[in-house]
Amino acid sequence: MAEKVETESEEKKPMNFIEEIVYEDLKAGKNGGRLNTRFPPEPNGYLHIGHAKAICMDFGVAERFGGTCNLRFDDTNPVKENVEYVDSIREDIHWLGFDWGDREYYASDYFPQLFELAVRLIKEGKAYVDDQTSEEIAKQKGTPTVAGTESPYRNRTPEENLDLFLRMNEGEFEEGSRVLRAKIDMASSNMHFRDPIMYRIIKHPHHRTGTKWKVYPMYDFAHGQSDFFEGVTHSICTLEFVPHRPLYDYFVDELADSSYRPRQLEFNRLNLTYTVMSKRKLLQLVNEGLVAGWDDPRMPTISGMRRRGFTAKSIRNFIDSIGYTKFEALNSISLLEHAVREDLNAIATRGMAVMNPVKVIITNYPESQVEMVEMENNPENPAEGTHKMPFTREIYIEREDFMENPPKKYFRLAPDAEVRLKGAYIIKCTGVKKDDEGNIEEIYCTYDPDTRSGLPGASRKVKGTLHWVSVAHAIDAEARLYDRLFEVENVAADERDFHEMLNPNSLKIVKGIKVEPFIAENATKGAHFQFQRIGYFTPDYDSTPEHLIFNRSIGLKDSWEKEQKK
Ligand code: ATP
Ligand code: MG
Repeated sequence: MAEKVETESEEKKPMNFIEEIVYEDLKAGKNGGRLNTRFPPEPNGYLHIGHAKAICMDFGVAERFGGTCNLRFDDTNPVKENVEYVDSIREDIHWLGFDWGDREYYASDYFPQLFELAVRLIKEGKAYVDDQTSEEIAKQKGTPTVAGTESPYRNRTPEENLDLFLRMNEGEFEEGSRVLRAKIDMASSNMHFRDPIMYRIIKHPHHRTGTKWKVYPMYDFAHGQSDFFEGVTHSICTLEFVPHRPLYDYFVDELADSSYRPRQLEFNRLNLTYTVMSKRKLLQLVNEGLVAGWDDPRMPTISGMRRRGFTAKSIRNFIDSIGYTKFEALNSISLLEHAVREDLNAIATRGMAVMNPVKVIITNYPESQVEMVEMENNPENPAEGTHKMPFTREIYIEREDFMENPPKKYFRLAPDAEVRLKGAYIIKCTGVKKDDEGNIEEIYCTYDPDTRSGLPGASRKVKGTLHWVSVAHAIDAEARLYDRLFEVENVAADERDFHEMLNPNSLKIVKGIKVEPFIAENATKGAHFQFQRIGYFTPDYDSTPEHLIFNRSIGLKDSWEKEQKK
């Protein structure tokens, strides 16, 4: 087991600092050479890109060294948790490419053992029922440099504590009226040891255990022991849990002998520019209708990114590129976008779409003629083959690709100028027709019949190449262009209310774009397209053949920074 299990692609991949520790533990024969990690989400929201970082670590380490990784739902707070979240978490992990087999567990599976441990600690004088409110308890906590104050209920007898705790669980007392606390040390330099709360009264039904329990363990009383009950060897988590570690050890000491205990290892959280990672804020965005749901393509959620057309591979590559350290940092969202662009460039099917169409009439082209020109599906991967696209006398091009009075070095269409229509002919502009307000309605051109691929003039060079779609064959569609959800780089560090920092232009809907038939025919869920010269697009979940909707996954280039400086 201590041998590194490596695939060819991983051979040169250096170990991160956690993998090194795990590797050493395995080599030293700890836990009988067993390796078991877990990913422990609380089902109180959808997973976000930060969770992806934890998932890649937890499952990745297990995969690399031939261990196993559990999925454990940390479902200790029934008020905030539900089955929709459980299902979405499962789907997202699978989509990222990881599998936990039959090792799906729930902290609620351990409620009986946790309750038993609590009862034992009460009997041993190591836990007591406190009748104070959580506010009063918080006030007595002290500060890191000033010792806390002992509760007036701290010295209740074990008998009285046990009686009260059992009655708490019978539902005899109101929520918030009493808690069970560990009796440790109100002067400890580690704040988590100042008589932490172990259990609180909650009367809300639990999504798995129903109304069986009226008391629920706090995360800190459930987490470490759950790892222990499950046989987890390496509990990998984020840095904010460093100060909790001694408390987890304290509770696990009450259960473990010297042969085995989980080893907690911490790495830095993922923080991304121009977005938020707090589930509380994400929930607010959803509940206040500021986004269309957890899977809104602007959300930093896995499901949002999937809907937007980001690939699992690009997310994993991004996580790989930022790595794991012991220091908190803020990562640029451009790095994620770069990874997305790189993968989509490799896999997206090329097609033509015109976002802001203006009609071009090729006056010397036969009126009823339709020529099928051949287009490469993906120049990055010739095996993807080609498709046919109709060319006719009337086509659409982008309004931005024509200028009546162009500046020097303008290589697109202009009066008397020539451009190549991608995959077809060279055309030359001979005139325009305008409406009463001076807007261009039609552009007139002639074509050079000798310049199509395969003909002698095919190699004739002109500076500009435009994308286009045949008017008679074009299919109307809607495009949804997404931008960053927030205008501010470091949202979490900004003191303003996050509402004030939202980007009002994070979604732009463009109706009446024109796509070639091939795109419409292949616009199935999960398809990735590159609209030539425009960007990467994927059909939205709400797209139908009658009403095509495309989400822009990402533009072709990182033009955002430049646009911001304008
Ligand atoms: P909450 O804000 O409700 O505490 P959370 O984001 O910590 O939620 P959990 O469901 O408790 O969510 O997280 C599951 C696991 O994912 C934890 O081990 C946590 O450390 C890890 N995780 C959460 N956010 C990030 C992040 N931004 N970067 C890396 N790992 C994260
Ligand atoms: Mg958490």
